[in-house]
Amino acid sequence: MDINILLNRLKAIVGDNSVTTEEFILQTYTNDFSVSPSVVPLAVVRPGTTEQISNIVKFANENKIPISPRGGGSAQEGGCLAVEGGIVIETLRMDRILKIDEENSTVTVEAGITFGKLMAALEKKGWKIGIAPSGALAGTVGAHLSRPGVGWGNVKYVSQGDQVLGVKAVLPMGDIVSTGTAANPHSEVFFRYALGPDLTGLFIGAEGVYGIVAEATLRMYPYPEEIYLERFSVKGLKDAVSIFREIAIHNLTCFISAPFINSNEIVFDINIEGFKKEVEAKKEEVRKIINKYSDVKFLGSDESLKFWENRWYNTGLEFVDGIAGVINFFLPYSKIELGINEMRILIDKHGVTKYVQQLFPGPTGSEVVALLFHNPSDKEELNKIYSAMEEMMSKALILGGAPYSKGRQWAPFLKEEMEETGYWSMSKTIKMALDPNGIMNPGVIGF
Ligand SMILES: Cc1cc2nc3c(=O)[nH]c(=O)nc-3n(C[C@H](O)[C@H](O)[C@H](O)COP(=O)(O)OP(=O)(O)OC[C@H]3O[C@@H](n4cnc5c(N)ncnc54)[C@H](O)[C@@H]3O)c2cc1C
Repeated sequence: MDINILLNRLKAIVGDNSVTTEEFILQTYTNDFSVSPSVVPLAVVRPGTTEQISNIVKFANENKIPISPRGGGSAQEGGCLAVEGGIVIETLRMDRILKIDEENSTVTVEAGITFGKLMAALEKKGWKIGIAPSGALAGTVGAHLSRPGVGWGNVKYVSQGDQVLGVKAVLPMGDIVSTGTAANPHSEVFFRYALGPDLTGLFIGAEGVYGIVAEATLRMYPYPEEIYLERFSVKGLKDAVSIFREIAIHNLTCFISAPFINSNEIVFDINIEGFKKEVEAKKEEVRKIINKYSDVKFLGSDESLKFWENRWYNTGLEFVDGIAGVINFFLPYSKIELGINEMRILIDKHGVTKYVQQLFPGPTGSEVVALLFHNPSDKEELNKIYSAMEEMMSKALILGGAPYSKGRQWAPFLKEEMEETGYWSMSKTIKMALDPNGIMNPGVIGF
């Protein structure tokens, strides 16, 4: 399609100031926080309402134009990047809190709101949400539930997917659908599992391939009376995993983070929240568990409090060496040690020297993370990172790992391991039924 016709058609939907084909602006949409290859979109369009998203999608279908939904572009798997000849739909204009329902403890937001904005508003009213990513100033709710992301709160609240009660989404042909109890036109969202199968789940983990999330309703919780943090260190990964598991299965903490585990001494923070008395009691139980191990040190609260205070601005020292290639997947407790060791072997094999391994445990297993750093101008180093990442993704799946965020990065490896499964064929059948023209975030997940 002629670029001017495209521009004018999109302007007719969203207004003159919310679409661009200017080369220098398009360049800023060619990357996210990954090391994925850059693609320049034909246009970037910024809808202001669900109906505008629907009209853009209908137009894209008529003209078979691929679409990539994008929030803050802070994810690490290339899922929000355009494909050749495609456009980017950026949700950041849709950043309103539609309803804070204190009676039913839910909050309904537009998809493009950042966690920073949402949490600040809730805290003022004495409320909080369960899970938020460290990249909270850029990350949007719509994207985070679509990955589905994890973050502060993993032990108590598990993942963002577990916090979602319902969504309003635009399907790949442009239809608008409400899920959860809001599927009943006489109702709002207050419960997820209702009126039929859990269609909310179709959008969680789908990263836009089944449609664009336009609104979401999340659970919210009273802001805790007390938030307590303390730091420990333990010698040996085996003991560390065992400690994390025992704390997590008893649901004693809100969050556990082990941001640097590439030495023999594993430093970790625990974060307990609740009523003062509850926090005191849980603190004692946590210490009882940790003190059963011989090589443990109590490092006090000062450093973990500093980390807590900066939690939305940075993730500590990990990113100082430049943009990182990230490998991030879940493993059950029974395989965490193996997973960390296998990833380290591959990192070493490919000669990647600047990296950090991390664990962020949950109730049944842990997020296993490897951040590989590089100097963007060093092509040789970048190639080492690419080849290490390829083997790591393949190995992670063979170990039984589950990447929560797939984007385009994991797509070929998921296809390779899963193409013959019933799950894959069912997912593709749904995709083809909803998106016969294959325009919605093509290539993500491997479809
Ligand atoms: C410093 C830093 C720390 C981070 N910490 C965490 C963390 O603790 N936990 C964590 O989970 N992540 C973390 N991340 C990754 C990322 O910031 C979050 O997952 C964030 O929520 C992604 O939001 P985004 O709007 O930037 O997503 P984008 O990068 O814009 O998009 C991510 C994916 O979602 C899809 N998508 C976007 N919007 C929609 C929509 N409305 N409907 C359907 N699909 C959509 C995109 O197509 C893409 O596939 C971190 C990133 C950085 C840079």
